[in-house]
Amino acid sequence: MTRTTKGNTLTRIASHRGGTLEFGDSTPAGFIATSRMDLEEVEFDVHPTRDGHIFGHHDHTLDRTTDSTGAIAELPLTEVLAAAIRDGEGGHPLRLEQLCEIYGDSPVAFRCEIKAGVRGVPYPDFVPKVVEMLAQHDRLATTIFSSFNIDTLDEIGRACDRPRLWLVNPALIADEGIGAVIAAARAHGVPELGINIDQSSAELKAQVIAAGLTFGCWGAHSIAQIDKALELQAKVFTTDRPSLAIARRNHWLEARA
Ligand code: FE
Repeated sequence: MTRTTKGNTLTRIASHRGGTLEFGDSTPAGFIATSRMDLEEVEFDVHPTRDGHIFGHHDHTLDRTTDSTGAIAELPLTEVLAAAIRDGEGGHPLRLEQLCEIYGDSPVAFRCEIKAGVRGVPYPDFVPKVVEMLAQHDRLATTIFSSFNIDTLDEIGRACDRPRLWLVNPALIADEGIGAVIAAARAHGVPELGINIDQSSAELKAQVIAAGLTFGCWGAHSIAQIDKALELQAKVFTTDRPSLAIARRNHWLEARA
């Protein structure tokens, strides 16, 4: 859905990992709740199992958020399915096809982050498998891809023509400057940047826009951070508090009605 306010496209809300601070990190309850919310995107991260299945889970291991341990890429399907999530209402990690089922009738788009495995090494030949599964389940046409790894964005570009955005590590901007980041994005043909909300500013946005790139934010979880993303009129922001973000956006719209 695209809504506008006084000529500006309404800032999109992406429920980060299904709304971690409201429902737990990458939980079934969070993904189900997000599918029914008045927002535009659900963000999730994907990892492969040893036997070629794909899970929507944030970490590359089960250690932090479940009662189990081990790297997902080194475990079979059955062991990842058996892991119990400790956060929120619990449940078990969801496979990508289960996420597709949950969102079967939902207008909420997928924002799929392609993660790396141990020590940040990308999973070999993973991107085409994710693309293929999304296509099989009629979700590819409504999926936006993201990654912190610009080489992974190249892979996504080779595998499909869906939108890609580069999640920019704050240290990269701090060390190299936004100019170098913009140059890299252009060199790789990546049209959109996702900037940490705390590093975002009107000046930085102006530089991104002047370079012909799209400006979005990630990590807007507090009222102040959410309001900042709205004030900046970012294209989109991710948030661990989707219900709060919806309320703040409605408040923002009412104040400008
Ligand atoms: Fe993510």
